[in-house]
Amino acid sequence: MLFWDLKTGAPKKGVPYRAEAIGMLSEEAFRLSTSDAMGEYLAYFDEPDRSSSLDSIMKALVRECRKEYDKYKKIPEVKYKEYVILTSEAECVWEDAKKNNDFELFKPYLEKIVGYNLEFIELWGYKENKYDTLLDLYEPGMTVEKLDAIFSELRSRIVPLVAKIKESAYQPEDQFLKQYFDIGKQEEFGLYILGRMGYDFDAGRLDESEHPFTTGINPGDVRITTHYYPNDFISAVMSSMHEGGHALYEQNISADLYGTLLCDGASMGLHESQSRFWENTIGRSRSFWQKYYSRLQDFFPEQLKDVTADDFYRAINKVEPSLIRIEADEVTYNLHIMIRYEIEKALINEEIKVADLPGVWKEKMKEYLGIIPPDDTKGVLQDVHWAGGSFGYFPSYTLGNIYSAQIYNAAKKEIKNFEELVEKGELIKIKDWLAEKIHKHGKLLKPEEILLQVAGEGINPKYLIDYLENKYKEIYKLEF
Ligand code: ZN
Repeated sequence: MLFWDLKTGAPKKGVPYRAEAIGMLSEEAFRLSTSDAMGEYLAYFDEPDRSSSLDSIMKALVRECRKEYDKYKKIPEVKYKEYVILTSEAECVWEDAKKNNDFELFKPYLEKIVGYNLEFIELWGYKENKYDTLLDLYEPGMTVEKLDAIFSELRSRIVPLVAKIKESAYQPEDQFLKQYFDIGKQEEFGLYILGRMGYDFDAGRLDESEHPFTTGINPGDVRITTHYYPNDFISAVMSSMHEGGHALYEQNISADLYGTLLCDGASMGLHESQSRFWENTIGRSRSFWQKYYSRLQDFFPEQLKDVTADDFYRAINKVEPSLIRIEADEVTYNLHIMIRYEIEKALINEEIKVADLPGVWKEKMKEYLGIIPPDDTKGVLQDVHWAGGSFGYFPSYTLGNIYSAQIYNAAKKEIKNFEELVEKGELIKIKDWLAEKIHKHGKLLKPEEILLQVAGEGINPKYLIDYLENKYKEIYKLEF
């Protein structure tokens, strides 16, 4: 709650004291979760006759507490503190480095951060690949072996798809999206769509922040933010639907799990599947706008009077290789992630050095997207993740897209008249299905267990690629 307030409306002069309070509470939480008392509790529940008598919730709770405890306990406290200080300094330095296109400034920090991560991996242990240990922090059970196969399949079909799209004679016109759109009306429309999705405003609220995010305080209080641009209204609509998807997940976790470590998403990837399901699969679909485009025209009659629903649909699905990940379309987005994955994997396995990154970045951008960033600001320095030490996080975004396509495929089979419901704007049934199949479990089940239950198989990128090929074949009139 302190963090949400800091990002949405805390007065400037209150920031230093607020930051101190957050630091103090975080340290206290860390101290409690790695305390001797916690070690004793876990040992108590580890006794074989006791652990076998626990119910499923208690069992999962002990499993998650043990994971947290081991993760921090294996690192000497001094080292952990040094690392926290290093990454918070690095985030400030990164901001300057990005602003001034100065990779050399950031380089020594990144070298140290990679060094610490290598030390942590030794302390935590690993089996096949060192990078597996970092992947597991965000996506339990994910490995380099699995991701290599996934990305190789994506690469073999998405790189040629992007090339075909680029050559197509039918390029959507999207200039009309860049007109002036009143911010008050943007907000009103965002609130309207969130309501239609089934976001519970008695258990949440929408605010504005620099970067959109979701804060789940408890399932009865899940707040989201968006950012309004007067000349790019689609950005706020899509980010509201994205964060709305995250929020629906947290609002619908079963009441049995409130107040425990299990009251959370099963993994970063699964959480991201929910946001991307609403943002892309629903929010960028023809069926969805069949219902809501006329409503949107009511909000912006001047700006959209000469734009047909079809023009609008094509415009919000324009594909264009671009330099910045967060501005990328559905098709090229996964290539941005692939670049980061390959770089992280090579760094952690000490096959490349931090000093090589700007060059490697440019080579890979050229190879997969056919464009080369003019500088490091629009290249290797664009994301904050590495400054914060979040190695292993990026793949979650693509996993989210893959899960979302698998969930969509299952939903179409299980929910009667799925497309018709979307066309009529009756989205609550879809939300209820997601809540029942995914949300209610929180962290009780592992991501692969949930996926197996929902989709009837493990992770499979085929559904995402098929979805992208079919959708964009039609938009760009491609021949296959
Ligand atoms: Zn997200």
